[in-house]
Amino acid sequence: MPGYSTPAIVLRKTDFGDYDLILTLFTLEEGKTTVIAKSAKKSTKRFGGILELFSVLDVVYSTGRRKGFPVLQEAALKHPFPNIRSSMLKTAYASYWAELINEWMEDGQVEVPLFQLFHHVLKALDAGREPEASLSILFQMRFITIAGLLPNLRRCSICRVEVDKIKEARFEYNLNKGGIICRDCASETPAKNFLSKGTIKQLLWLEKEDLTTASRVKFASDGLKEGLKFLEAFVPYHMGKSPRSLKFLRKMRDEVNI
Ligand SMILES: [Zn+2]
Repeated sequence: MPGYSTPAIVLRKTDFGDYDLILTLFTLEEGKTTVIAKSAKKSTKRFGGILELFSVLDVVYSTGRRKGFPVLQEAALKHPFPNIRSSMLKTAYASYWAELINEWMEDGQVEVPLFQLFHHVLKALDAGREPEASLSILFQMRFITIAGLLPNLRRCSICRVEVDKIKEARFEYNLNKGGIICRDCASETPAKNFLSKGTIKQLLWLEKEDLTTASRVKFASDGLKEGLKFLEAFVPYHMGKSPRSLKFLRKMRDEVNI
């Protein structure tokens, strides 16, 4: 039977009838693929209970049928990430990243750097050595670079003057204009959304360095708040979607802060 064997990360998991599961997989070699896992819901023995959200698996699935989903034949667990699933906050971050990927990718679209990025942030989220917010900024900046949705952070979105040539310490931004705006171009009404020059520099660093170097960027707590607020507004706006998981993430974050 024709089929594929590839590493994969589980993006979505839904029940299908009483017995089966439908899994949306982000595979390394075949891009985004939806497969059916027969009897996986009825019996955990069939796949050993490893078909969990965000887990990294080696999967084998057949593509022989003309109708319906490809059928998952085998799955082996590579990384279970137990610390993500035992924390509501970590689950909320991983769900948001998975939703962005799932919304943006077409079936069969192969995205190796995005797979590596997602794998990297999930691993770091599970290890817990870096703040979740910092990983989410890293993920979103690099995701929008891959998706071609980059904001204007080097120049004013209206007059195009370079940020380095402006003496202001912080800049207003406008989602509709695609990025930051200098004071000369800013509207008369007081703006509510700002990015400081320091945060802008750090965001640009995350975008252009290799993943290992970019992962070492340390944000101050103000920078984390600014960066998250900006990206969680910018990314959904330019994708034209408001992710359901973002509401859940904000709720979780509020609860943790209290
Ligand atoms: Zn301007």
